Amino acid sequence: MSRKSIVLIFFCLVLCIQGQPQDINTTEICKDVIVVHGGGGNVTAIRTDAGIVVADSFTTPKEAREARKLIEKHFSGVSIKYLINTHHHSDHIWGNQVFGDAVIIGHANIMNHLIEDYDETLKKYGDYDAKIRMLERQLNEKKNSKSVELKKLKDDLALWKWLKELLEELVPTPPSLQITSDAYLKLGGKTFEILYFGTAHTDNDLVILDRKDKLLIMGDLLFYRKCHIMGPKADAKNWISIMNKLIARSDQYEYVIPGHGAIHTDVSALEEQRDFLNDIWNAVNDARQRGLTLEQAKKEIHLEKYKNWLDYDRIGLDIEACWAQIKKNSL
Ligand SMILES: [Zn+2]
Repeated sequence: MSRKSIVLIFFCLVLCIQGQPQDINTTEICKDVIVVHGGGGNVTAIRTDAGIVVADSFTTPKEAREARKLIEKHFSGVSIKYLINTHHHSDHIWGNQVFGDAVIIGHANIMNHLIEDYDETLKKYGDYDAKIRMLERQLNEKKNSKSVELKKLKDDLALWKWLKELLEELVPTPPSLQITSDAYLKLGGKTFEILYFGTAHTDNDLVILDRKDKLLIMGDLLFYRKCHIMGPKADAKNWISIMNKLIARSDQYEYVIPGHGAIHTDVSALEEQRDFLNDIWNAVNDARQRGLTLEQAKKEIHLEKYKNWLDYDRIGLDIEACWAQIKKNSL
């Protein structure tokens, strides 16, 4: 695994850790659909006449249990039949073991990442006991120091304790039903179109379309006004094409559920995401045609339009991803 992939895992973990403990709350979209927010992202639950379909499972078994409890309380007496993983990132799949009694659907490529990510995380963070002891010692020694320093130590300690709890319980649980192309799940009078368009955010992104409830579940193919959305192996060009295909089907859904954050009720978030991808792709392409190096391109490209988006200061990583892809395509 590349250093960048490890950084990405850490990034996902840090995202989840920030602000621990995360509040978990629900949004009711209609009588058959709720979204549980927290645990690093969104978990969607859809009731049918024959059971519940859930999309994604949060980062930790503990958070997944809380989500499951909320879902089962809301749809009292109805059992969870299916869990669909939108992709392999930890904040979408590491709660899978809590849904082990359901059929877990995911793209077959998840298998290439799940154990690898887990092993890398253990390698990097498995020594949590020693780290916690060290931080507790430092905290004790510096209890009279400046509050900023003390706060950092306390935050670090909370983070490592969270990691300990996660890693002691986590059993990486792969999908029991693996797919490699579009699939249709029919359950209790509803049809769930599970769409695979090829590599974009990852090589295993699935989108779920439920026309009856007018839902489009996007996973991390949709972020809201955020940069740094591409890992080193992302495919921005295909991502643009996916957004266009889904925008063209906007008469089939009303609610758009991203992997993180608020629910959208129109297609504008998809259009904004497509425009961002287009703009960054074109800027990188242009820089390469002008003979710039990657470092020069990262310095020169200023997409002012997005300066208020989250993680604009990390847009260099998106530039790197596009650069790598254009270079690969030109070989
Ligand atoms: Zn992701």
